[in-house]
Amino acid sequence: MTIDPNRCIANGKCTTVAPNIYVLDEETGIAVLENEEEATIEQLFAGARVCPTQAIIIEQFGRRVFPQILSPMFGEGRHEADRATDDAAGTARKQES
Ligand code: SF4
Repeated sequence: MTIDPNRCIANGKCTTVAPNIYVLDEETGIAVLENEEEATIEQLFAGARVCPTQAIIIEQFGRRVFPQILSPMFGEGRHEADRATDDAAGTARKQES
C-alpha cells in the first residue's frame, strides 16, 4: 500500500469514503494512511478507486493489484510510453530476424 505524494492532489476524496483510514496530513495536505492495521480491504480499495490521480497504489505479494494500469501524469509518462513502444518494436524486430 503506497500513496504517491507526487500524484496526490489533496482533494480528500479518499478521506470521504474511508475516514480515519485515509487522512490529509496537516502540514503537507497530502493523503496519508492512518490506522492501517484496522483498515478493511474494502476501505483501502474504496479510497484507491475514488482517487482521480491513481495516487493510491495497492500491492499484494510484491505485485501491484490496483491500479492495474498506472496512467502517465503531468507529462511524466511521455518518455516512458515512448520507451515501451521502442522496446516492443525492438523485440518484434529481433524476433523477425
Ligand atoms: S483521493 Fe487521491 S488525490 Fe485525493 S487526497 Fe486521496 S490520495 Fe490524494
